[in-house]
Amino acid sequence: MTDFEGLKALVTGGASGIGRATAELLSARGAQVTVLDLDPGAVTKPLLARRADVTDDTSVRTAVVAAADEMGGLDILVNNAGIGAQGTVEDNDDAQWQRVLDVNVLGVVRTSRAALPYLRGSRHAAVVNTCSIAATAGLPQRALYSASKGAVLSLTLAMAADHIHDGVRVNCVNPGTVDTPWVGRLLDAAADPAAERAALEARQPTGRLVTAEEVAAAIAYLASPAAGATTGTALAVDGGMQGL
Ligand code: NAD
Repeated sequence: MTDFEGLKALVTGGASGIGRATAELLSARGAQVTVLDLDPGAVTKPLLARRADVTDDTSVRTAVVAAADEMGGLDILVNNAGIGAQGTVEDNDDAQWQRVLDVNVLGVVRTSRAALPYLRGSRHAAVVNTCSIAATAGLPQRALYSASKGAVLSLTLAMAADHIHDGVRVNCVNPGTVDTPWVGRLLDAAADPAAERAALEARQPTGRLVTAEEVAAAIAYLASPAAGATTGTALAVDGGMQGL
């Protein structure tokens, strides 16, 4: 399929996991893609890559402007960079809250702010935010992470309303537990990684973890011209965790 031919995309956190699968899929379907990441060293051609820290407004702005200049514009922004946190409200201190909200929420704000002037000039402008079922599922031991993704969900709806008249669609995906290096790190830190993996798999009605490629396919749909009438939605990619 070459439905992204001629379109230019930015994917934050595109050097690993869901972001990497998304960047590769958009590229395979014809888009020119630049990955923005803290550590873009592993990104290979035909993907373009720039170092950017979504917690630093100057870093983000500089990278977005340079990427748009290099590609000759910008049609698609995938706000995917994110970090996790475990615990109840009693477990995380203010510094941990500020750190996670800075990456997961303000990271989306900063990158969108820098990209919107370019997106307004596109005939197929789309923003897709990587949210999480944690935004609405009430998961235990995820107070901070859930609050951060709840904010991303609200932001998605507000941005959709604000920018539809600019011709910019804004949607998000809500993945369940996805088999990425992030989840690999969580499992490695567990006392019994195999038992922990089995517990995560059992939580999903499909009996397995979601793949990064399945989330990438949902992001690509929302970013594609085929979704031209869809804005302000959250697409679950969660193995049935919330719906069943
Ligand atoms: P990952 O750790 O494999 O990849 C995250 C990428 O983001 C990394 O390349 C990292 O370098 C980059 N990144 C982190 N902080 C950054 C910063 N400040 N600036 C720029 N880049 C930064 O993680 P993943 O599992 O692919 O997660 C990607 C997104 O998906 C996150 O937003 C996460 O919240 C969301 N998500 C993941 C899961 C899951 O189970 N893996 C579930 C739901 C939602």
